[in-house]
Amino acid sequence: MIGTMNWKSTRMKGTFDCPECGPTEFKLRESRPFLTFYLIPVIPIGGMEVYVQCDKCNESFEPSVLSIAKPDELVSGRQRTYDDDLLTSIALMLNADAIGEPNIWVAQRVYWRLTNQSLSRSRLGSECSQMRSSRMSMSSFLATASERLDFDERLSVASALFAVAAVEGKLSPMRSKILQRLPALLAVDESAFRESVEEAVELV
Ligand SMILES: [Zn+2]
Repeated sequence: MIGTMNWKSTRMKGTFDCPECGPTEFKLRESRPFLTFYLIPVIPIGGMEVYVQCDKCNESFEPSVLSIAKPDELVSGRQRTYDDDLLTSIALMLNADAIGEPNIWVAQRVYWRLTNQSLSRSRLGSECSQMRSSRMSMSSFLATASERLDFDERLSVASALFAVAAVEGKLSPMRSKILQRLPALLAVDESAFRESVEEAVELV
């Protein structure tokens, strides 16, 4: 009666350039091992895996296959986009304290909701370690980032950071300190900030 299973679901569908068979359709799938009791998944026993499955050849790929750089993005010194800034600020928020599995899932989900792009664990991990080695602080990063982001983008960064920090209702003192400074760092007034915090719930 006790067993294991991989609980799978399709997060999205679309078209992509399959490395094996060229332009075709894909499914973005999530899979997570569960302990089952009478075939009902009850306890997750491993991390969530996200992968891209080709509809034609059925081959599985890392989600990064969806964002293989197009030639015009390879031009050096490309300008940072909202997506880049969102990713960096999420990484900085994660780095502020111990990073748990729930923080990672929420970060991936929030990034997905706000950019329509998947964020692989490896990309998130490498951004976190880059930020750690560069010793970048949230305040120095947002001081420059908030100048190139428009008002709505700054509000979504605030929602994203709140969602990532407040996962499972637990908020560490270090992350809460950053959240308290966000309105000033992002140059948004308190009432707009409060609304963005309320919207954070919908991102998760
Ligand atoms: Zn294929």
